[in-house]
Amino acid sequence: MKAEVLVAGGGLAGSAAAIALARGGRDVVLVEREARPQHKVCGEFLSREALAYLRALGVDVEALGAVPITAVRLARADGVGERGGLSDYVPRPKIRTWGTPTIEAWLPFRAMSLTRLRLDEELLRLAVEAGVQVVRGRSVERVEADGGGWCVRLNGRENATATTNAVFLATGKHDLRGWARPAGRQNDLVAFKMYWRLDAAQAAALDGHVELILYCGGYAGLQPVEEGAANLCCLIERGELQRLGGRWEKLLAAMLAQSAHLRERLEGAEALLERPLAVSAIPYGLVRERAEGLWRLGDQAAVIPSFTGDGMSIALHTGLLAARMYLGGESAESFQRRAHGELSRQVGLATWLSRGLVEHPALLSAAARIWPGALQWVAAGTRISARAMPA
Ligand SMILES: Cc1cc2nc3c(=O)[nH]c(=O)nc-3n(C[C@H](O)[C@H](O)[C@H](O)COP(=O)(O)OP(=O)(O)OC[C@H]3O[C@@H](n4cnc5c(N)ncnc54)[C@H](O)[C@@H]3O)c2cc1C
Repeated sequence: MKAEVLVAGGGLAGSAAAIALARGGRDVVLVEREARPQHKVCGEFLSREALAYLRALGVDVEALGAVPITAVRLARADGVGERGGLSDYVPRPKIRTWGTPTIEAWLPFRAMSLTRLRLDEELLRLAVEAGVQVVRGRSVERVEADGGGWCVRLNGRENATATTNAVFLATGKHDLRGWARPAGRQNDLVAFKMYWRLDAAQAAALDGHVELILYCGGYAGLQPVEEGAANLCCLIERGELQRLGGRWEKLLAAMLAQSAHLRERLEGAEALLERPLAVSAIPYGLVRERAEGLWRLGDQAAVIPSFTGDGMSIALHTGLLAARMYLGGESAESFQRRAHGELSRQVGLATWLSRGLVEHPALLSAAARIWPGALQWVAAGTRISARAMPA
C-alpha cells in the first residue's frame, strides 16, 4: 500500500484531518482498527467550538439527532469534604451540609449532545465521500522512519505494510508501540461510561442540562443524548476503585450512597448497556510540544480533563490545524509547537481544577456557591481561545 499521508485512527481527530487533506487534493489512507461502529468512553458534550468545526466539515448534528444543552448543574455529594473516601463512606442520618447541594448556571454558549457511535460514523462516511481510502478492522502496529518517509505495519493479512510521506497519529487513548505518550499531570483516574433510560420525570428534569456530580475521589457527568437516553460518565481515583474491589457494581452503589442527586436521577432507571465501558491511565494535563516526525492529533496531542467537555474540540482543532499546515508545506514540528502554544493554557487550568474537584470538592463547590459566575467562568476559560480558531 502506498499513500502520501497515512492517518492512524478514525476518531474525530483522524477523520477531520483526513477529510481536510483529501479535500485539499492529497492521497490519504485512514486506518481504523474497529470494523464496526463502537461506543466510546466520552461524555458526548459538544461545545461551541466542536459544533463550529463539525459544521465546517459538513456534519449536520441536528439531523443526526443531537439534543441541545443550555445549562450546567453542579451537584455536591453528601459528606464530601469529610474524612475518608468513597469506599469507606457510611451514610449518616444527619449530615453537615451548607446551603443547597445543587448550583445551576446558564452555559455561556449553546452546546449539543450526540453519541460518538453516530458522530464518528458520520465523519468516516464524509471521509470516504471526500476520497479517503478508509481501511477498517485493521490496526497500525508499528511506525518506523524509512528514508525520507515512513514504513507503517498493519496487523492481520500478509504484505500489510504501507509506505507514506507523513503519518498523522490519531489513535486517541491508545499508544503505539515505541511512540507512547508521557504521563500527564493527573494520571490516577479511571473512567466508566453507562447509558441509562431514566424515569420520565427525571428525564424531564435533566433535559437541556449537563450535570457535574461530585463525590469523594472523583466526579461524574450526566447529560441527555439522542433517543431519550442519558449518558453517565464517571471518574474515580484508581486507589478508591481498588478498595471497591475494582467492580463497577460496587462503585455505582458507593456513588449512589453518597450522592442524593444521583440517587434521585437513577431511581427507576434502566441500564442500556450490558456492562459499562471503561478506560484507565488517562494522561490528563498532557500537551505535546515535540512531534518527533509524526503529526500527533487529538488525545495524542493534548488531553484535557473530561469535565470541560472540550476534548472533542481539541481533536477537531488539531486535526484541521495539522491538515492546514501540512497543505501549506509546514513541518510536523512547527505544527506541534503551535498546537502546544494554543492549548497549554486551557489544559493547564482545567487540570488544576480537575485535581481540585477530586482532592478538595467541598472547597470548590463552596467557591462556586459564593461566586455565582464561577461555573460560567470555568466553562468559558477551559475552551480553545477565539484567537486560535480560524476566521
Ligand atoms: C470520561 C471521559 C469523558 C469525556 N467527555 C467528553 C465530553 O463530554 N466532550 C468532549 O468534547 N470530550 C470528552 N472527552 C474527551 C474525548 O472523548 C476525546 O478527547 C476525543 O475522543 C479524542 O478524539 P481522538 O480522535 O483523538 O481519539 P478517539 O476518539 O479515541 O479515536 C481514536 C481512534 O483510533 C482508533 N485506534 C486506536 N488505536 C489504533 C491503531 N493502533 N490503529 C488504528 N486505529 C486505532 C480507535 O479505534 C479510535 O476510533 C471525554 C473523555 C473521557 C475519558
